Amino acid sequence: MQNVPEEWRGARDERGGREGRIGETLVKRKGDHREEMKGEWKENGGMCGEEVEKESLMMELTRLVQKIVKESSWWERRGIDCSILAAAFLCLPPAFLLLGSSQVQLFLAGMLLMGVAHAVITVKGTHLASHGALSESQAWGKFWAVFFIEICGSFSARAGIQGHIKMHHAHTNVIGLGDSSVWKVPFLPRTVYLFIAPLTVPIITPLVALAHLRGHSLAHILRTVLMVSLGLYSQYWLLIHVSGFQSPHSALLCMLVCRAMFSVPYIHVNIFQHIGLDMFSPTRRPKRIYQMTHGVLNLPRNVVLDWIFGHSLINCHVEHHLFPFLSDNMCLKVKPVVSKYLTEKRLPYQQDNYLSRLQLFFNKYQELMVFAPPITELVGVQ
Ligand SMILES: [Zn+2]
Repeated sequence: MQNVPEEWRGARDERGGREGRIGETLVKRKGDHREEMKGEWKENGGMCGEEVEKESLMMELTRLVQKIVKESSWWERRGIDCSILAAAFLCLPPAFLLLGSSQVQLFLAGMLLMGVAHAVITVKGTHLASHGALSESQAWGKFWAVFFIEICGSFSARAGIQGHIKMHHAHTNVIGLGDSSVWKVPFLPRTVYLFIAPLTVPIITPLVALAHLRGHSLAHILRTVLMVSLGLYSQYWLLIHVSGFQSPHSALLCMLVCRAMFSVPYIHVNIFQHIGLDMFSPTRRPKRIYQMTHGVLNLPRNVVLDWIFGHSLINCHVEHHLFPFLSDNMCLKVKPVVSKYLTEKRLPYQQDNYLSRLQLFFNKYQELMVFAPPITELVGVQ
């Protein structure tokens, strides 16, 4: 991988860490002393004291993952995910044709096909594009980011990358920076927030994009408005001229249904995997490997969501936060090594299933989504 030096920087920055404080209390949640555990870090691969100073855990894990990446073919690194995205685009022509059918079953099949294709393109596609995981060339990376985020996703590429890469990934679960608070709408009751409000995501997304454009150059504003309009109008035009929708209202309603088809699980997944886990203070943030292992959770494999949202957002979210430049397929490939390594080093490898998280958020909605989260201090590993 030609781009490796830049991409592996996160791991190099771990050098010179202070993981050598051995046997101290590792986890202490301010206020309630919820968890305490004694770390027996001496056992960890024989690394302790000065040895740990020389080689941080993140460096060691990075080398293991880097080896797998180097041994992987282009097909594994990018080809599989690019093919899934291409297949989603190939589903669009039959979807538009099926939506023109007068038979209810065929019409509904068209709706389902369009909804699935739209979710693959706008969730998996925009996410991988925002990370530059679709191409090894920077220029193509920028092109794909604008294509997926603005034309397909109706959002601003710059705001998307700023929010997701520079805030959420760089400051995962750090209060006031990457604490996922953008997903909180505390004035909404839990049932409305969890099951009804997500259906408005297709309408809210371009409006939020417009709000983000304030203060940017005229050229940037024009480009984003043009790209977002192009994406929305082309779907509308095809519904009228290919599918044969008779009225603008029915075409717009069809667009809304297709675009909102997976927005309930989309919102769920975004909150399930971070909120309710350890949160950190911006002034006493832990080192990256502790931050990510304590602040990120994996959902189990799920055939539908794995394909539509991608492994990095579902069953490999921990791997994705540790190595955010890897494609979905590579996250899946390194998962056994990462989980084994973290378990061996007695670091958390947090996993929970979808229904259990939904139950937790439903029952503890006030605590998790309304009140300010408590701060965790990882004493002894700072
Ligand atoms: Zn990401």
